[in-house]
Amino acid sequence: MKFNQCYQTYKDKKPVISFEMFPPKTEAALEKFNKVVPELVSLKPDFMTVTYGALGSTQDSTLEIAARIKREHQIETASHLTCVGSTREEIEEILNSLSESGIENIVALRGDPPQGETEFKPVEGGYRQAIDLVQHIKNRGDFGIAVAGYPEKHIEAESLATDLDFLAEKVKAGSDIVVTQLFYDNRYYFEFVDECRKRGVECPIVPGILPIVSKKQILRITQLCGTNIPEDLNSKLEAAGDDDEAAFQIGVDQAIAQVTELLEKGAPGIHFYVLNRANHMKQIFERLPAELLSSP
Ligand code: FAD
Repeated sequence: MKFNQCYQTYKDKKPVISFEMFPPKTEAALEKFNKVVPELVSLKPDFMTVTYGALGSTQDSTLEIAARIKREHQIETASHLTCVGSTREEIEEILNSLSESGIENIVALRGDPPQGETEFKPVEGGYRQAIDLVQHIKNRGDFGIAVAGYPEKHIEAESLATDLDFLAEKVKAGSDIVVTQLFYDNRYYFEFVDECRKRGVECPIVPGILPIVSKKQILRITQLCGTNIPEDLNSKLEAAGDDDEAAFQIGVDQAIAQVTELLEKGAPGIHFYVLNRANHMKQIFERLPAELLSSP
């Protein structure tokens, strides 16, 4: 089932829930991953996505894992795909393999520059921006397409306005949905949606939520992607100090508050960055008002 069909339920007012996983890097992590997947599936997400690693890391396992989750759990999956390190011909081969494996959806991305570098340089004969990848996939016609959007601006972008202009072009090139970068202040999302609509973006714009699991982790991630931590959330995390359990509970409360407001105010669904964990997601789903997640 392609993204467009997945998001049909939103039109009946049922929000679409997706979980994003990353391919485990070690045998031990894989063993843990295999236990976590059924726990996450039991929360009944509409689909799951699997990220695409940086060059030389876990790229091959993205396809394998996305195909396996779909096969073993009868749940729709999407494979992320970046322009990093691949020529156009190699991208075409990857897309052929994804199609043969039964994957119907791609999260199409440019990818980040290698660690230590600030500028993205495509390989010779490779794609320069995500829009180039989107155009190619759209021309093939066999995948649903999602792209990334940045409510607080992409870290390399000159301004939010130019970033939004490029996003509008990327959607026009053939994307079915936009999935946002994580944020902890919903105002950024609502303003972002307004600005996208002004630029003619009509597709679902799905908020990406990363429940905090530890203070150290969240400081690292927010710094990398330029996400602000609101003052009140920061004070709570400061007060928790090195107590990971306390930070975890703050993260669960924060996610519930954000998701509740987002869905009440009309977000088409939630894309959870679950970081290959299930405990926090179980708590969040137990405590979210049931009527928020089902059709009226
Ligand atoms: P683009 O849309 O190409 O934008 C990149 C930058 O170029 C922006 O600053 C934009 O303003 C600018 N730009 C866009 N179009 C043009 C143009 N035509 N001319 C000039 N400038 C332009 N990374 C991974 O490595 N693997 C993953 O699996 C992965 N999954 C992600 C999932 C989500 C939901 C999100 C939000 C991000 C994900 N990322 C992933 C990170 C992503 O690869 C990085 O944020 C990357 O730096 C930008 O990718 P993009 O697709 O947004 O690029």
